[in-house]
Amino acid sequence: MFFNLLQPKKIYQSVFEIPFEDLQKSRIRGVIVDLDNTLTEWQNPELSQEAVDWLVKLREAGFQVCLVSNNSPRRVEEVAGKLGLPFVARAQKPRRKSFRRALEIMKTRPEETAVIGDQVFTDVLGGNRLGMYTILVPPISKKEFIGTRLVRIIERLVIERQNRGDS
Ligand SMILES: [Mg+2]
Repeated sequence: MFFNLLQPKKIYQSVFEIPFEDLQKSRIRGVIVDLDNTLTEWQNPELSQEAVDWLVKLREAGFQVCLVSNNSPRRVEEVAGKLGLPFVARAQKPRRKSFRRALEIMKTRPEETAVIGDQVFTDVLGGNRLGMYTILVPPISKKEFIGTRLVRIIERLVIERQNRGDS
């Protein structure tokens, strides 16, 4: 059912709270990470030191990492390049194509891949459509694209529904 495709597998208050051991227990080997409002404020070219450290730790824990963003190649490369991370830009999430591209890059199968992002209708929906392990985090900044703001209202309903435990 469509509504189930909008349900993240897990919700955490930030990327920093995601327990890597849980991912490893679920046999996750690759992690697709959204950029805007997941790792950094929308359009902010600088990652915080905390976000950089987190990405480094994620890789050191043995995960393949790929940034997948709907933003422009210039924007995404600015961040990914500094860390030598592979990325897919202008991804048109929730379309599956860019997620498949990330799987190719990381050489992982969907069931061993997690998607971490702040949007139900791009990150969670796209990841769920391929059967990936989806993790939703709240946006780190309120400043964002106007279209996104409207979508947030629906997202809140999805999250409330999940918290009630029905599905
Ligand atoms: Mg985002």
